[in-house]
Amino acid sequence: MAFPTHGKSERDILEELHEFREKDIPFSSGRILGSMCTKPLPIAEKAYMEFLETNLGDPEHFMGAWEMEEQLLEMIKDLLHAPLDAAGQIVSGGTEGNLLAILVAKSLTGKKEIVVPSHAHFSFNKIASIMNLKLRVVDTSDAHVISINSLRNILSDKTAAVVAVAGSTELGAIDPIEEIGELCYDEHVFLHVDAAFGGFIIPFLKEQGYDLPNFDFLVNGVSTVSVDAHKMGCSAIPLGIVTVRDRRWFEDISVDAPYVSRKKQSSILGTRSGGPVAAAYAVIKHLGREGYQEIASRCMETTFYMKQRLNEVGLDTVIEPVLNVIEVKVKNLKEVMKGLTAKGWHVNPVERLSSFRMVMMPHITKQIIDEFIPDLEEVCKEVGEI
Ligand SMILES: *Cc1c(COP(=O)(O)O)cnc(C)c1O
Repeated sequence: MAFPTHGKSERDILEELHEFREKDIPFSSGRILGSMCTKPLPIAEKAYMEFLETNLGDPEHFMGAWEMEEQLLEMIKDLLHAPLDAAGQIVSGGTEGNLLAILVAKSLTGKKEIVVPSHAHFSFNKIASIMNLKLRVVDTSDAHVISINSLRNILSDKTAAVVAVAGSTELGAIDPIEEIGELCYDEHVFLHVDAAFGGFIIPFLKEQGYDLPNFDFLVNGVSTVSVDAHKMGCSAIPLGIVTVRDRRWFEDISVDAPYVSRKKQSSILGTRSGGPVAAAYAVIKHLGREGYQEIASRCMETTFYMKQRLNEVGLDTVIEPVLNVIEVKVKNLKEVMKGLTAKGWHVNPVERLSSFRMVMMPHITKQIIDEFIPDLEEVCKEVGEI
């Protein structure tokens, strides 16, 4: 399409946009079963629009947006039990959060290898390539979490950082971060916790008595934690936060920013919208811990319901769900995927585990599960799965 010569009316353009949008699958249709994102709370949209023109790279002009950003970071630090010296940085999501954390580790240690589990998010492949680091993959146990013994053996004087995951992308599993933290603390190794998914659900389940391990700054050896507000935070894309135990580490990676009002920047991005920050601020203030607790426990209830319904039709999961992630074992992954897609259901294939992933996000209800299961059963019977 050529760059337009003449402008069009607002009405025509909005109509065009609407046609594009009609081709999307909205979360509200209930058909997106595999995504880690969800429909943002209505207040997110209003907040986002209010700050549409703001630039967080230039806080002198946008003092209000800057203040709001600082307060959001304080709330996240509180959520993650960060010590007084800690600092946070807004990022676009889990990928950039991991990137910034590894950049900190690299610049602090000057070392060249990062140790990641096989279930680490693929963003670490990008990060290793950008920063010219070597990825060492540590073995996992039967529960699909890092094996401490294997970790102990793989650490070396080349290790810049260990990555542990709190809510793995495929399974929602949580690495034994207390044990890993102890090892990393003793060995003086930098430990980054990728809580992109788990960061906005694990704390709220723990508050309700769920038996889940500590994953944040309560664990002594943890150096950095990244969380995503655009996943279980129920806020708008793009919004993640990376937090470091010692604020001086951000100074280590900061560069002079001579032509904007903030004289030093430790962020990767320069110009940044205040919109998503406002959305996350608003959603967090609107829900509070109580609102998030309610969402978290509802998601776990639908998870247990889904699991029960799957078992009833003769299907099983790779692990017992730890969080609201369900990984369904299937022998004929391709055929099952094809059948489900034909029936309008969207789940995520995980070839590595011969299974497909579903995430019981807040937009998934029991009623949707009741509609899904008969279709899944039919598909599975057709391809001889059950
Ligand atoms: C989603 C996810 C990421 C990547 O986050 P983006 O927001 O997509 O950049 C990283 N790590 C984990 C564990 C994730 O679930």
